[in-house]
Amino acid sequence: MFPPIKRKKTRTIFVGNISIGGDSPIRVQSMTNTNTRDVKATIEQIHKLYEAGCEIVRVAIPDKKAVSSLKDIIKESPIPIIGDIHFLTLLGEEAVKIGISGIRINPGTFKNRQNLDRLIRVCKERGTCIRIGINAGSLEKEILKRYKKPTPEAMVESALNWLYYIIEKYDYQNIKVSLKSSNWWDTVRAYELFSEKSDFPLHLGVTEAGGLIPGTIKNTMAISYLLLKGIGDTLRISLTTDPIEEVYVAYEILKNLGLRTLYPDIIACPMCGRCEIDLMKLYEKVENWARNIKANIKLAVMGCVVNGPGEAKYADLGVTGGKGIGIIFKKGKIIKKVPERELLSAFFKEIEKFLKEHPERYIQKDVPN
Ligand code: SF4
Repeated sequence: MFPPIKRKKTRTIFVGNISIGGDSPIRVQSMTNTNTRDVKATIEQIHKLYEAGCEIVRVAIPDKKAVSSLKDIIKESPIPIIGDIHFLTLLGEEAVKIGISGIRINPGTFKNRQNLDRLIRVCKERGTCIRIGINAGSLEKEILKRYKKPTPEAMVESALNWLYYIIEKYDYQNIKVSLKSSNWWDTVRAYELFSEKSDFPLHLGVTEAGGLIPGTIKNTMAISYLLLKGIGDTLRISLTTDPIEEVYVAYEILKNLGLRTLYPDIIACPMCGRCEIDLMKLYEKVENWARNIKANIKLAVMGCVVNGPGEAKYADLGVTGGKGIGIIFKKGKIIKKVPERELLSAFFKEIEKFLKEHPERYIQKDVPN
């Protein structure tokens, strides 16, 4: 059993009806990669992300047409929408007036302080959450000049400057902060330094992390390190792939740290010369099927009857096979033998039966554990 993590106490803020920080569970976010002007495609993607467990979704607002799509997107979305703007604060202002739940501002990309002030004022009037999204690649010139390069210290100084500015000038505190770099260690140091100085909730992530494998690794290293230290209130795994994968990766990290469970835990052997079944195909099918189940259950997909059931005796249910025979086992004991072609359907039936007998294992997506 993973030792419980003591989370650093942060203040509670809200993005729409979703609380972040304080005693709230660590929230999972993602970002659409559809064209925001295409309302249908964007809504479809948001629904898929929601079904996968995404709790807050960000959409890019590149122009006026994207702003005008927002009304319908917000109406149809089951989760709060955050708008992402760069350079164009006036678009952000319009989006906030339309009813967006949060806005991500990257101070380094705003040249006109007056317009930024207007945006902050409108956010305050409507209670819209502001994320101060510091990005190492776009720090303010003045800070960069002093630090020579975008160090974690420089990122923290920028974040704190903006945080105090909004608090002191506008007395507004529905704010979260992110300090992202494409270098995972700089990201970690920036979050650590910031959390020593402030109790505002932190949105974790490594920016421009890359595709599924390199991106997952970089994000997992940084985010796990921080979460183990109790730092972090919400996260987005940035990946150059279908954003649905960002949600699955996020829950996989949270599950392995004992912070949140949404999906079955699947263990599988790496295969060896004893394997007499197409295990890779079998595993892929089990994993895809399990993505439709929100339950705390441990499943095993093993390559041979000799070692499989014994090695996976801690799994609630497991599957293996060879020589045309499929085997299903429960806590290491064989409970069923079927022809190999019937293996998957028999396994899925057993899982459903198990969950019927243990309804407490189901996890309600909207009531985080
Ligand atoms: S379960 Fe069997 S096939 Fe898989 S690694 Fe172990 S011995 Fe090899």
